[in-house]
Amino acid sequence: MPSSDVIIIGGGIIGLSLAHRLASERLRVVVLDRREPGLEASWAAAGMLSAAPESPDDIALVPLAKRSFALYPDYIRAIEESSSKVTNFRRDGALELFFGSSPEAERDRTVASHRELGLTTQAVSTADAHSIDPSVSKSAFAAAWLPDECSVEPRALTSAALQAAKNRGADVRANVEVRKLLIEGSRCVGIESPSEKFTARQIVLAAGCFSSGIEGAARLAPTQPVRGQMVSLRTARDAPNHVVRSHKGYVVPRGNGRLVAGSTIEHVGFAKNVTAAGISGILAAAIELIPDLGGAAIEETWCGLRPDTPDHLPLIGPTEFEGLWLATGHYRNGILLAPVTAEILGDWILRGKTESDVEAYSPQRFTTEKTRAAL
Ligand SMILES: Cc1cc2nc3c(=O)[nH]c(=O)nc-3n(C[C@H](O)[C@H](O)[C@H](O)COP(=O)(O)OP(=O)(O)OC[C@H]3O[C@@H](n4cnc5c(N)ncnc54)[C@H](O)[C@@H]3O)c2cc1C
Repeated sequence: MPSSDVIIIGGGIIGLSLAHRLASERLRVVVLDRREPGLEASWAAAGMLSAAPESPDDIALVPLAKRSFALYPDYIRAIEESSSKVTNFRRDGALELFFGSSPEAERDRTVASHRELGLTTQAVSTADAHSIDPSVSKSAFAAAWLPDECSVEPRALTSAALQAAKNRGADVRANVEVRKLLIEGSRCVGIESPSEKFTARQIVLAAGCFSSGIEGAARLAPTQPVRGQMVSLRTARDAPNHVVRSHKGYVVPRGNGRLVAGSTIEHVGFAKNVTAAGISGILAAAIELIPDLGGAAIEETWCGLRPDTPDHLPLIGPTEFEGLWLATGHYRNGILLAPVTAEILGDWILRGKTESDVEAYSPQRFTTEKTRAAL
């Protein structure tokens, strides 16, 4: 029965970033993934790095998002150094365009709420937006400029994080499906796959939207999938050099005329296919933002399953079971939140405490006395 200090279930960006952190501190870390690591939500993401809330529901996430955003440059440096790979981390800023019925009022509300949250967002004229990025639509009615926003290429980042974790000594195993958590009394002692048991002092569940499907985890980690479709485009004409978005969609530049556009928010279970309506909606929103994209070549379409939770906030921290930790439920922000998740759980596992205020993200917020008794 293989034994280690830490087992991480799931080799997406969350599990791999934590594996890199813990292995860098010389813990014996095993990452188990039921496929090749890094091919689920982390592979599908757009890679926008924005602490700005998309709706009032997201405000509770802002402190965590701001902390992770601040960690990003050092996180990228560490991953790139450990892996000798590049991640296409770009600090280009973002433009938000408003087309609705009262665009200036909507823009001013957005700017005011961002400022209250300590985010740098400026109202700009549509002419200024056009001079910041000449590719953007001249027919937008109002605009805001978010100079600090960044982006990264999630497939490159996840591949670099995988290599970085391996180079620091993590044992990353593909094609090992974790079926069950092994619980003895009040302690989690390991996991079971169809062919093997693994034991460790610490077990971290980081299986994204699939976390709730593991026996013993359903009530602890109430994750569910939310499908998002994406399109990548190539254009020889003016490509945007910044993230450009509206409330209908977004465009994220990758350089050299390549860009990705997204997305949809669909509750369709674990179905992983793109649809005519999904892709046409994404393209319409992208062309509204950047009219020249009407002539762009479509390179690829795909989708991924975001790990959502009942209150849309992540599950980060200890559970009722000693030795069992959650790092899942990052919904629309897992690429952004990877550094802070690795920091928080790394501190807890390595030093027994975290300085961060993480109560709002505690996995135990969903376990009542009744469910605890049924665990
Ligand atoms: C279309 C789209 C756009 C997005 N855009 C952004 C964005 O711009 N910015 C941002 O910050 N976030 C974005 N996200 C969200 C982000 O992708 C996710 O929050 C993040 O990737 C979650 O990472 P994860 O490691 O938790 O999960 P995943 O990447 O899904 O990884 C989970 C891993 O666990 C493995 N696994 C599952 N079950 C088992 C099992 N039983 N045993 C072993 N292994 C198992 C899987 O094979 C997988 O490798 C987007 C997501 C989508 C779908």
